[in-house]
Amino acid sequence: MKRVYLDNNATTPVLPEIFASVQPLFKELFGNPSSIHQEGREARALFEKAREHVAAMIHAQHDEVIFTSCGTESANHALKGIAYAKNSKGNHIITTKIEHPCVLNTCQYLQTKGFDITFLPVDSYGLIEPDDVKKAIRSDTILISIMYANNETGNLLPVEEIGRVAREYGIVFYSDMVQALGKIDINMESLPVDIATFSGHKVYAPKGVGALYIRNGLEFDSLIHGGHQEQGRRAGTENIIGIVAFGKACEVIKKEMAEENKKIEFLRQKLLDGILTKIEDVHLNGHPIFRLPNTLNLSFEFVEAESLLTALDIHGVAVSSGSACASGSSEPSHVLLSMGIPPEVCQSALRFSLGRGNTEEDIDYVLSVIPDVIGKLRALSPLYKK
Ligand SMILES: *Cc1c(COP(=O)(O)O)cnc(C)c1O
Repeated sequence: MKRVYLDNNATTPVLPEIFASVQPLFKELFGNPSSIHQEGREARALFEKAREHVAAMIHAQHDEVIFTSCGTESANHALKGIAYAKNSKGNHIITTKIEHPCVLNTCQYLQTKGFDITFLPVDSYGLIEPDDVKKAIRSDTILISIMYANNETGNLLPVEEIGRVAREYGIVFYSDMVQALGKIDINMESLPVDIATFSGHKVYAPKGVGALYIRNGLEFDSLIHGGHQEQGRRAGTENIIGIVAFGKACEVIKKEMAEENKKIEFLRQKLLDGILTKIEDVHLNGHPIFRLPNTLNLSFEFVEAESLLTALDIHGVAVSSGSACASGSSEPSHVLLSMGIPPEVCQSALRFSLGRGNTEEDIDYVLSVIPDVIGKLRALSPLYKK
């Protein structure tokens, strides 16, 4: 049966050219980048080339990028690494209620270790005012952590403006940019952000590789001690296969980003228009303008998102309710709840996240099955009286 994959914010398929680029690393190119013989030097060369591609993608200096095992590890490094390094200056951290669990739960952990965390609320669009960040700043604030793009709604947060506030007060500013990479231009030269995190598998590289941008000169405590890899900032023999794939992904995406995103945005609009014409009582969650080109979060009133997800899956359509990290639990999304959306409307929310693999036929197919699926589910709902 036809499968239409619309869950690219959870993970993406590995592109064929990326797969091809790492195949020699399973065979003859097996060296350890820290070894000084020829095998080691060959691995080192590939490894540094990958770093250059990732750095170029975000307009960073070559030595401002280090590799980790995933976006979550990167977030742990950023938050704990800065919190520990700055602890003598204070223990207050500002973040938001809509962060990814890798930030929220790390902040909650830091709370148990004596750090004081402010979780800023968001407005009904899921956005935050730079002024609210300013008002939350105290004399003991050492870190501000605010994501660039939200994984559930696709919202783009005003990171540049918030960064200017952070600069004004001399506070370190960290941004989770996992969802922004490849979908919007990221320019670390001009963005007032000190530390940022990325993940390979959200940009068509395999799972198990992440990156961390650390602005030159920033004080930072390493979390993983051992060898001298990554200038002592992250020990352990490098996942060279994942890293080379991540580099290749950045090389490919950077070249084709504008064109691909235009196509993806067109498809998303087609999906939205089609759903709104064919189905009643549908609401868009998130901001209609300040958002990624690929993400669509919709509430289908009188329908349980989990049932809708399962029914669509049976019809060959892969989507998500809330974030992949939160699903499995039937708790309503913390992101949508913090936007003031009633719990029952949160529980009818579905996320469609498009990617490079999607075609117009995919969208036509989804539009051909979804009205019927919703009609059947609503017919079973005691609350639906039409
Ligand atoms: C997926 C995701 C992460 C975590 O990345 P992993 O590599 O899966 O650990 C962090 N933040 C956001 C916004 C994400 O979407």
